[in-house]
Amino acid sequence: MAIVVQKYGGSSVGTTDKIKKVAETVVKRKKSGDDVVVVVSAMGDTTDDLIGIANEITNNPDKRELDALLSTGEMMSSALLAMAIKALGYDAISYTAYQIGIKTTGQHGKSLIDDIDGENIKKSVSEGKIVIVAGFQGINEEGHITTLGRGGSDTSAVAIAVKLDGMCEIYTDVDGIYGVDPRKYKDAHKLDEIDYEEMLELSSLGAQVMHSRSIELGQKYNIPIYVGLSNSDIRGTVIKGVNSMNMESKPVTGLATSDEDVAITIKDIENDINTVSSLFESVASKRINIDMISQTAPVNGKVNLSFTIPKVDLNECLDIIKPFYSNKGQIAIDEDITKFSVVGIGMKTTSGVASKMFKLLSENNIGVKMITTSEIRITCAIRQEDKIKAINAVAKDFNL
Ligand code: ASP
Ligand code: MG
Repeated sequence: MAIVVQKYGGSSVGTTDKIKKVAETVVKRKKSGDDVVVVVSAMGDTTDDLIGIANEITNNPDKRELDALLSTGEMMSSALLAMAIKALGYDAISYTAYQIGIKTTGQHGKSLIDDIDGENIKKSVSEGKIVIVAGFQGINEEGHITTLGRGGSDTSAVAIAVKLDGMCEIYTDVDGIYGVDPRKYKDAHKLDEIDYEEMLELSSLGAQVMHSRSIELGQKYNIPIYVGLSNSDIRGTVIKGVNSMNMESKPVTGLATSDEDVAITIKDIENDINTVSSLFESVASKRINIDMISQTAPVNGKVNLSFTIPKVDLNECLDIIKPFYSNKGQIAIDEDITKFSVVGIGMKTTSGVASKMFKLLSENNIGVKMITTSEIRITCAIRQEDKIKAINAVAKDFNL
């Protein structure tokens, strides 16, 4: 008999009617012969509402108490789902992180799961119960309630699946993972499967389907993660280790765009590696993430250096880099940037992906301001007004 860990997100348990619907789906799965452990998020916007309430008390709530407050959202939904299942005549039990020993380390609000005791879950499962776990929460070394960061229930679910050596299914309000966001490209194809690394790249590029740490955990322990629509038979997407040598695999799996970055150019900076590296060191010391970098050829020992950072970090970054230029005319800020990326593990073994992409962009008169690549991704900075044109051209040609 297989054990399956199902996670239902906030929108799937947003109302009591939706909770009853999930209860029916869970019972159906139990009847089919599987042991079921369910991880739930808080109902709808509960977590945001709780943060709002805390902010009515103070604009700087104590971190320990904020975690204590936020964890109540998942306790509520887990108890309600257990009630709904019992009302259908099936045995169920809800557990908080404390009761099943989800041990965490690190800071409040962004704790990491260290280990899960799991004995209570196993015992209840062996008694035939459907187990419901409050996601997003843990207990630290001092016994305080912690939370895992926004969207963290995905990570709770994968961690429990690892511990129970079970299957992991994430149910949400989208019916799977698409090569391109269907809101940006109407002909987007849904993927049957996607590799962990590809999914991680796409999430870091702004495809916000899942909590990234859940994918890292799945990859580390080789647990396939199914992502699909709640209470539906429509086939979703499996995130797993995909063999990049597979002849059928496409070189490019997905495309993502983001308008959240800004490019900074410092003109006439000394062309020596010490200056450049100490500039990047000071930016990194503030944990500002530099993504793309480009530099012009030296003229009289000087170069123009450009790099992109998240827009939200612009002011802080400008403060830090002051020592590296002497007057305002030496610095240019370009906010008209769309980061346009294609991702695919097939790129490891297929050549010509970059040249094909640049050909498509140039045929469509789309100028490229900056480029960066990794083994499985190519990113260009383009103008925001060219974004839709670029998506259409590249998605169509790569059949995304
Ligand atoms: N309820 C939490 C949040 O809204 C955790 C989760 O949904 O996974 O971020
Ligand atoms: Mg989520």
